[in-house]
Amino acid sequence: MTLRGRLTAAFLTVVLGPVLVGAFFVGSAVAAVDRSRSTERLAVAAAAVRTSVDALCQQLRAAADAVALTEDRAAAAGQVVSRGLAAAVLVTDVAGGVVHATTGAPPTPWRDCSAGVPAAGPLRALAARVDLRDAAGAPLGTVTAAQPVDPAFVARLAAVTGVAVTLLDGPGTPVRLRHTTESAGVRDTVLAAAGGLDGERVAGTADGRYVRRVGPSDGQPLPLVLSVPSDQPPGLYAALVAAVLLAALLAVAAAWRLARVTTRPLVELAGAVDRVARGDLTARVPVRSRDELGRLAGAFNRMTRETGTYVAALTSSRDQLRGHLAVLGDTLASTHDLHRILRVILHSAIAATGARAGAVLLVDAGGALVAQATEGLAGPDDPPGPVRVPLGSGVVGAVAVTGEPRRGRVEPSAVPPGEPRCRTYIAVPFAAPADAGGVRPDSAARPAGVADAPTTALGVLALYDRLGGDEFDDDDLVTLRTFAGHAAVAVDNVRVHEEAQRLSLTDPLTGLWNYRYLRESIRREVERASRFGRMLSVLALDLDRFKNVNDTYGHTAGDTVLAEFARRVRGEIREVDLAFRQGGEEFVVLLPETDARGATIVAERLAAAIRGTPITVDGPGTPVLVPVTVSIGIAVYPDHGSTGQQVLDAADEALYAAKAGGRDTWRVAAVTRAAPPVREIPVPAGAVTPDDGLPRAGAHRELPAVDGAPEPGLAAPGGGASSGPHPPRQSRGR
Ligand code: GH3
Ligand code: MG
Ligand code: MG
Repeated sequence: MTLRGRLTAAFLTVVLGPVLVGAFFVGSAVAAVDRSRSTERLAVAAAAVRTSVDALCQQLRAAADAVALTEDRAAAAGQVVSRGLAAAVLVTDVAGGVVHATTGAPPTPWRDCSAGVPAAGPLRALAARVDLRDAAGAPLGTVTAAQPVDPAFVARLAAVTGVAVTLLDGPGTPVRLRHTTESAGVRDTVLAAAGGLDGERVAGTADGRYVRRVGPSDGQPLPLVLSVPSDQPPGLYAALVAAVLLAALLAVAAAWRLARVTTRPLVELAGAVDRVARGDLTARVPVRSRDELGRLAGAFNRMTRETGTYVAALTSSRDQLRGHLAVLGDTLASTHDLHRILRVILHSAIAATGARAGAVLLVDAGGALVAQATEGLAGPDDPPGPVRVPLGSGVVGAVAVTGEPRRGRVEPSAVPPGEPRCRTYIAVPFAAPADAGGVRPDSAARPAGVADAPTTALGVLALYDRLGGDEFDDDDLVTLRTFAGHAAVAVDNVRVHEEAQRLSLTDPLTGLWNYRYLRESIRREVERASRFGRMLSVLALDLDRFKNVNDTYGHTAGDTVLAEFARRVRGEIREVDLAFRQGGEEFVVLLPETDARGATIVAERLAAAIRGTPITVDGPGTPVLVPVTVSIGIAVYPDHGSTGQQVLDAADEALYAAKAGGRDTWRVAAVTRAAPPVREIPVPAGAVTPDDGLPRAGAHRELPAVDGAPEPGLAAPGGGASSGPHPPRQSRGR
């Protein structure tokens, strides 16, 4: 049932109930009053009937007395009749014989007024009898005066009493009509009602009359029925029913209208709420009144308006954040530029929390937090230069050491030294992801001063001065933790990437750069040398008779020799020099900004460092000392080639010459710029064994072989300025 239906029903109940009850009371009160009035009228009429009959009887008795007292009874009787005191006079003798009778006597039977309760049977006239006696008191006869009980008599009674009078044929039941003044249409109902009555009871008839019986009784021998029409206005009940119906109709109309007026705003509100529920925040309801419903409608409109504004703000900030996250995602995916990543993370964090400024600080090797990215910190109040805070000091230092985020408010004058001036701040530490594999900042990378710090914090993400002046709240903390997590992953990724890159470019056995990096490096170094007009020397190194080492002491011992060799090479060169293992026991050293002369000095030093101390390896049972020597070929850019590959090839040629020259020595390549190679034939690795059986550095690579290369005019250590110091070995090799 709808609210409108319920309201209508309630209104009808409230209105129609009293109307019905009222109608009922009016109806019954009117009926009761009517009955009592009619009863009263009938009682009065009954009394009047008795009085009339009594008066008639007295009149008849007086008439009879008058006749009895006179001598000439016939004359007296005539006078009495003619004066209208009686309708007839009858004089009888003692035997009952008629002595005199006036004419026009009413039909019998007559009923004597003074008789007791009359016997049953009809009655045609009322009579009064007087006994005639002589002086001695002996009966002489009787005088009876009579008056007929006819329609005229009944009509007179009716006129006297003011009610309708019906004379019954006898006192017994069933009642039979004799005369009546009632109209013909209601006689039967009156008689029917009278049939069940006795005494002074009053009965009502179906057509609205009240009926009562009078007599026969002592002194009133007539069996009469008195009846009066009801006093009640005709159609009272119909009027009452009509009134109730009208009231009901009006009530229904009023209730419907009222319910409509009451529920309409609610219906509108329900519709609007429905629309809001479906996501339409433009839904509004008309405010029609200032009552509670009007206030509700106003509040609803306000609520949807504000919700709409709020949702719009949320949507725009979500879109912004989405944009930032997209940039962040792109940046994370597309670059390993740590500074750029940190800048984007910081920017996104500032945008997400609504801060004025911020910084990402990373723990450096010197035990301090150093800002790697900052935003909004170029104000006049901010510390000049990069933000740098020692671990454990100030806010960010404490956050990094304890691993606990901090946020709060600070007096500008109480800002710890070195940190940005701010009113509110939030700082969240970030640490390397614990479960990820790969390279972690080892203890060597961690500052010595904080070796015992309970954290492996990589850094701290700090924001300053939340817009609006509020402190940063828990939501900001959650947001910032997310961004700090990104920063941690980014830093970790970059470090892992750097390490992976390093590993991909180094040789695991010796730790030297590998062949891949050699190719890149020599191209880069040649380019640099060319650009700046500098020289670049290339040394090609090959261990002598290394196969023997393997054969004699085993492969593991060979590896040990290789590793130790590499260590010694590293120890002999400058920091700018680069040492590579190009494969097997063949190595290359690049000497930037070094001419042939400088290169020979390095070669000599290297050869000496290898030769000077035999290498200790694990022999069968006990360690053994293995003497090792190296042959070195030297070539110089731009003297021996215009590309990296050409210079490398020239160095290989020189190495070949050094091997041929007896090993444990070096050779400088012959200057070939004037006569560049005519034709190059690619030779697959290992496909061709040189006739002399001598090894070639880098022979496993597809290096172009110099076709028809004559025995190059190689400078030897022993032969002039460019020869090494070991002529005996050199001569032995030749
Ligand atoms: P030379 O250069 O003086 O002419 O003689 P060699 O014995 O060094 O000659 P060659 O270049 O033919 O031999 C190289 C040997 O180096 C062959 C191989 O057994 C050994 N070798 C190459 N790579 C490795 C390595 O990674 N570990 C060990 N133990 N041996 C290696
Ligand atoms: Mg060798
Ligand atoms: Mg070799």
